Amino acid sequence: CSSVPGWSFDNSYARLPELFFRRQNPTPSRQPAPVVFNHQLAAQLGLDLKAADPLSVAAVFAGNQLPPGSEPLAQAYAGHQFGNFTMLGDGRAILLGEHLTPDGLRLDIHLKGAGQTPYSRRGDGRAALGPMLREYLISEAMVALGIPTTRSLAVVTTGEAVYREAALPGAVLTRVASSHLRVGTFEYAAASQKGEGLTALVNYTLARHYPELLDEEYPVRALLSAVIDRQADLITHWMRVGFVHGVMNTDNMTISGETIDYGPCAFMDAYDPATVFSSIDRHGRYAFGRQAVIAQWNLARFAESLLPLLHPRQDDAIAIAEQAINGFKDRFDQRWLHMMGRKLGLFDVRAGDEQLVRDLLGWMQTTGADYTNTFRSLSPLGLLSEEQAADPVLEEWHQTWQQRLQQQGQDVQAALALMNSQNPAYIPRNHLVEQALAAAHEGDLGAFGTLLGVLEAPYEQRSGLEAYAAPPPPSDEPYQTFCGT
Ligand code: AMP
Ligand code: MG
Ligand code: MG
Repeated sequence: CSSVPGWSFDNSYARLPELFFRRQNPTPSRQPAPVVFNHQLAAQLGLDLKAADPLSVAAVFAGNQLPPGSEPLAQAYAGHQFGNFTMLGDGRAILLGEHLTPDGLRLDIHLKGAGQTPYSRRGDGRAALGPMLREYLISEAMVALGIPTTRSLAVVTTGEAVYREAALPGAVLTRVASSHLRVGTFEYAAASQKGEGLTALVNYTLARHYPELLDEEYPVRALLSAVIDRQADLITHWMRVGFVHGVMNTDNMTISGETIDYGPCAFMDAYDPATVFSSIDRHGRYAFGRQAVIAQWNLARFAESLLPLLHPRQDDAIAIAEQAINGFKDRFDQRWLHMMGRKLGLFDVRAGDEQLVRDLLGWMQTTGADYTNTFRSLSPLGLLSEEQAADPVLEEWHQTWQQRLQQQGQDVQAALALMNSQNPAYIPRNHLVEQALAAAHEGDLGAFGTLLGVLEAPYEQRSGLEAYAAPPPPSDEPYQTFCGT
């Protein structure tokens, strides 16, 4: 009898050739204790987290008590990390298996921080509370922003310390994902030089994520194009809300098109395409404005992995891959412009719109304007705040924008509604996230819960929440994030 009723496991990944994983149980924790459970997500999954006492539920999400039907394993993958190819694998995450939801979805249930695996290298297989809460908060904020992402079902503490620069409380995050297939999984299959491995992986991926492509004349080409399209759409979403992923290594790019790996990510406040938060990204490889270029680079690694299956003749395979990869830029540029237009209340793109967008971004960059609040404060009703009217460059831009809005012959209220559905009022502001995590570290989850609640409805501006929309107070220290904690 499980303390979390409702599980329905069917573990298709465990039926792949054995080179793709190693069976590995979670390492039990000394004293699992609940921190946060996502009851809304649990309900969607058909799980009842209220059937048993929270301590028993925490034992499940710490990996101490295995759900019936689970077959724990660590996945093998490779990846280009900051451009360098490496063999990797789940070093501190264990896949319990795939849960089938009442709606018929197949979702990975992953315990992050559940102990060492054959792929841990020198790592301890563990995670600290702060970063797991951070992933929970930001991934769930992404859901509410309407952005494809892995989700967070629970955070529990382990009752054990993890040693980083200091001793920190250990924790396990339960991550829920469409799958954990990554570009790096394909790089691993290609590098393992077992033709059957790659073919098996491609067939598996098509069946799991793109079943409609199985009937195509060239399903592998179709898979490549479909993944390219999903990634172009995903990066467009990131650019819409000022999200800087921070560690776009190929092992952190999913085949499903979901955002994954919330280690060093952060949201940009003042607009600057060079924005970088990760302490290890010294050359700005993964800066805000480079994310599309990097996605294309990663997708080229994906295409390379698929080469043997794209065409029997290598020259032809390369030509097919190159054509597909070049298509990324067209798709992204088109999606990006359409998206930016919608942020400005424009229902479709016309000649001159790109200039209109670029002029505003240029002004924002020069003045250091807040990305989120600038868009949210622009009024298609022709109203200018005192501050906006005092800036002649913005004032002139505003007039051009008003003319463009009038040309589209749409009701201004409809334009405003469109803008408010695209421009969040609330994002996970770095300074607020840090405050909430600092309090949680002291055992007070109040600020964390309140912030989570605000971010559940990011497009609904509410009175009394001004502090959650405000840019950070001036600081001499740039905000920095860290991975692998
Ligand atoms: P990331 O930079 O988060 O994408 O992680 C890169 C690799 O390092 C993955 O294979 C992780 O599983 C592994 N890793 C990160 N932290 C740890 C840890 N504490 N113990 C073992 N492996 C880890
Ligand atoms: Mg990762
Ligand atoms: Mg990570």
